[in-house]
Amino acid sequence: MIKSPTTLTRRNVFRAAAGLAVAGAATPFLTPSPARAEAQSGPEALNGNGFYRFKIGDFKATVISDGYGQIPIKPVFVMNASDAEIAPVLKANFLQPVVQVTNNVLVVDTGQERILVDSGFGEKLGPAFGSFPGLEANLVRAGITPESIDLVVMSHGHLDHIGGLVTKAGALAFPKAQFVFVDTEWNYWTGSRFESEVNTSPMPDGFKKGTISAARENLPPVASRARFVKQNGEITTGVHYISAPGHSPSHATILFVSGNEQFMHMGDIAHHPVTSLQRPNWSPIFDYDPAQAIKSRKAILDRVATEQTMVMGYHFPFPGLGHVIRQDNAYRWEAAQWVW
Ligand SMILES: [Zn+2]
Repeated sequence: MIKSPTTLTRRNVFRAAAGLAVAGAATPFLTPSPARAEAQSGPEALNGNGFYRFKIGDFKATVISDGYGQIPIKPVFVMNASDAEIAPVLKANFLQPVVQVTNNVLVVDTGQERILVDSGFGEKLGPAFGSFPGLEANLVRAGITPESIDLVVMSHGHLDHIGGLVTKAGALAFPKAQFVFVDTEWNYWTGSRFESEVNTSPMPDGFKKGTISAARENLPPVASRARFVKQNGEITTGVHYISAPGHSPSHATILFVSGNEQFMHMGDIAHHPVTSLQRPNWSPIFDYDPAQAIKSRKAILDRVATEQTMVMGYHFPFPGLGHVIRQDNAYRWEAAQWVW
């Protein structure tokens, strides 16, 4: 499923040769293939330097890190369970009460188009997520220019997903892209109800403020370049929205299909590999409709477990790739093996 990159640019051909020589001297019993040598040929080419390349059938995919921040599991990831219920789960999984959380931004080259899914926090939140370095710097490290993005596909309208659409100066961060939203999700976050509903939600005040300002600052500027797709509709060849509402009014996951392979970007149906999978009834503080979000979480987890689909968790430990496996009456996470 996951393969090392095989495309050799002229620059990398030179590096590949250098890498072969170095690797050969250091480990004479191992002869790396040219593709391996390319991956080892310079720090900016190495998986792990803020990005991670893999394949989905014939599609070339890259996960780009948008940095990280510290999040308390309670109440942010679990607001509806007691300390006595949470503590043994954390202990059994070697987790601290405060965990590091990432935003994993997916780029997929289908051969026809270069697609970016969700855009991280952007430059607006200060020194937390989005600046360690965040998406912008790590795209550069991966050799992906903002101008080369054809489609920006949004899973939903929360600040950590739309915050990077517009720069601090107000320019489009992906100047040549078309912006794709589920139609009803766009309508909600550009409509008249969301501000009062966010303000009366259980979110901490900082999140409320950030959620409202992210919608105001990032959505109107892309309106003239936006394209709207129905829930479960096709975004482009081999790329589909899968309806998974609840976390936000019309939240969706994104399914990629190439050849015999499927891959799902799970959006925010699951925020953490332990709390969301082992206890799918535990609700994060951000869910718009917690009961509906639990239904969607279980439906998606059940589907990808049954179909053995490789998935990405947007907030799972970088690069967030792996499989969901049924266990007892819930699920567990099996991270994909890291491939250099
Ligand atoms: Zn999120």
